[in-house]
Amino acid sequence: MRKPVMAGNWKMNCDNDEAKALADGVTARGGQVEDALVILCPPATALTSVFSSIANSNVKLGGQNMYWEEDGAFTGELSAMMLLSCGCEHVIVGHSERRGRFGTMDEADADDLAAVFGDTDATVNRKAKAALAAGLKPIICCGELLGERKGGKTDEVVASQVRAALAGISADETANIIVAYEPVWAIGTGEVCDADEADRVCGMVRATVAEVYSQDVADAMRILYGGSMKPDNVEGLMAKPNIDGGLVGGAALKADSFGALIDAAAASAG
Ligand code: PEP
Repeated sequence: MRKPVMAGNWKMNCDNDEAKALADGVTARGGQVEDALVILCPPATALTSVFSSIANSNVKLGGQNMYWEEDGAFTGELSAMMLLSCGCEHVIVGHSERRGRFGTMDEADADDLAAVFGDTDATVNRKAKAALAAGLKPIICCGELLGERKGGKTDEVVASQVRAALAGISADETANIIVAYEPVWAIGTGEVCDADEADRVCGMVRATVAEVYSQDVADAMRILYGGSMKPDNVEGLMAKPNIDGGLVGGAALKADSFGALIDAAAASAG
């Protein structure tokens, strides 16, 4: 039985006061839910204030990104240990925006922004391994661009991202990994992936995990869907056998809408 997950990725939104107010709202609305794992991933500047808001709740804290080194001359970066010291248990790794792949892009546009934000399959793997080694639980993101989908490459792209991210990670460590399938064209665009298709790709991710490790590991792994998940589409997605929850951007920025997603995730546990 896989406990459903609802994770909110606040991206580059919320100053400290706004973050505290949003975390207070989420905690009041769904903070004591036991049937779902609720994770808030505010910007790094707000981790400490959000941690104080969720202290007496079941809500967990996550970072949005990290660097794999422990410390040193890496201006602007955050280590796993720093995230842990702010109260994080989780960290998003390889979000499409960190890979420089944005919702409206076709394949050709991706290179410039990949250079700015920098994540590649290889760095996603290094980050996932460093997170696990430090005791942080990575939420590893994968997903295809619209051009890749139109070109019939969805399964190839997603499976290869998953294989690359898991390289060198032991079967024992996979208990602390969550995978998020996020079709890039659905992120922040309002265009949700059809639930059957999202389930199919999440099932393909699970089959890939089974090939890398075993069916037992695949059966135990939480695989989330992300991409314009909202209160009006969450039930259909959560009803699917291979979708164990959501990684949510826009709808996580309001306590009411995120609360409705938490309710749906918890209800799907039954
Ligand atoms: C995300 O940022 O991972 C995401 C899925 O965003 P949104 O829900 O806004 O599409």
